[in-house]
Amino acid sequence: MPSTVELMSVPDKIVRNVNDLRAAVTAWRRDGKTIGLVPTMGAIHVGHLSLVTEAKSHCDKVIASIFVNPTQFGENEDFDAYPVDEARDVEELSEAGTDLVFCPGREDIYPEGFSTVISISGVTAGLCGPFRPGHFDGVATVVAKLLLQCLPDVAVFGEKDYQQLLVIRKLVKDLNISVDIVGAPIIREDDGLAMSSRNRYLSKEERALAPELNRVLRSVANAVIEKPDDCERICSLARSELLEIGFASVDYVAVCDMNSLELLKIYSGSARVFGAARMGTARLIDNIPVT
Ligand code: AMP
Repeated sequence: MPSTVELMSVPDKIVRNVNDLRAAVTAWRRDGKTIGLVPTMGAIHVGHLSLVTEAKSHCDKVIASIFVNPTQFGENEDFDAYPVDEARDVEELSEAGTDLVFCPGREDIYPEGFSTVISISGVTAGLCGPFRPGHFDGVATVVAKLLLQCLPDVAVFGEKDYQQLLVIRKLVKDLNISVDIVGAPIIREDDGLAMSSRNRYLSKEERALAPELNRVLRSVANAVIEKPDDCERICSLARSELLEIGFASVDYVAVCDMNSLELLKIYSGSARVFGAARMGTARLIDNIPVT
């Protein structure tokens, strides 16, 4: 017999507080089901949906969460402008096979008097870390809460936010949170631009230039293979090229060890190229393996 949750209509697939979430999870557990979690901030696109597909390949039931987490936005960032369309998001997530969408209120994540911050060192030191102070504390804290609220077997995160993926791996290892963290490949538009909720901020002209970030990172990866001891100069040239193309600023182009994120001057295998640059008001990030 189908469970209550399977009989629900799309809007009823939403749970808005931890008690209802736990009730659904407990019922599934009683039926022997395994559970996957896909945390998102909404503004759902095909990249997010690929995480749901990935989660479904590991688990019987998939929960997607939608929470625009204020603590991971800096003061001058786009928290107030972040696109919100819950009805559309829930419909898309449901069509992709999500069994339950967890849309917690702010009080479910940060109740009155909340005073815990999880801060992870090491992998947060470079790349986005210095450009977004407090960002990874906000990410680690909210993901810890979501994991402990859902208690999933598996949680899926995109390699699009590769540094974030490593932060979460460290979080669950250091705190012995019993969950398998699965990384999923970056989903791109046909022209190579990594899909992102923030691509909506791009004007037509900016959108036409945005895929250049990916092209430049690919040219860095090729150049590094040809001249492995020249990483610094290759990245410096790439930063200049992005500015010439029309990016307003470049936070970084860097070749880093894919596990530690240590900045590499000499490439010797297992590395990725990372880039972050601003196009108009949108801060775009991307990364690719050096293979
Ligand atoms: P966000 O809603 O931007 O916080 O992203 C939620 C999850 O979706 C994170 O694990 C992201 O890494 C992942 N994600 C975002 N964009 C993509 C993409 N283009 N391909 C794969 N995963 C993505």
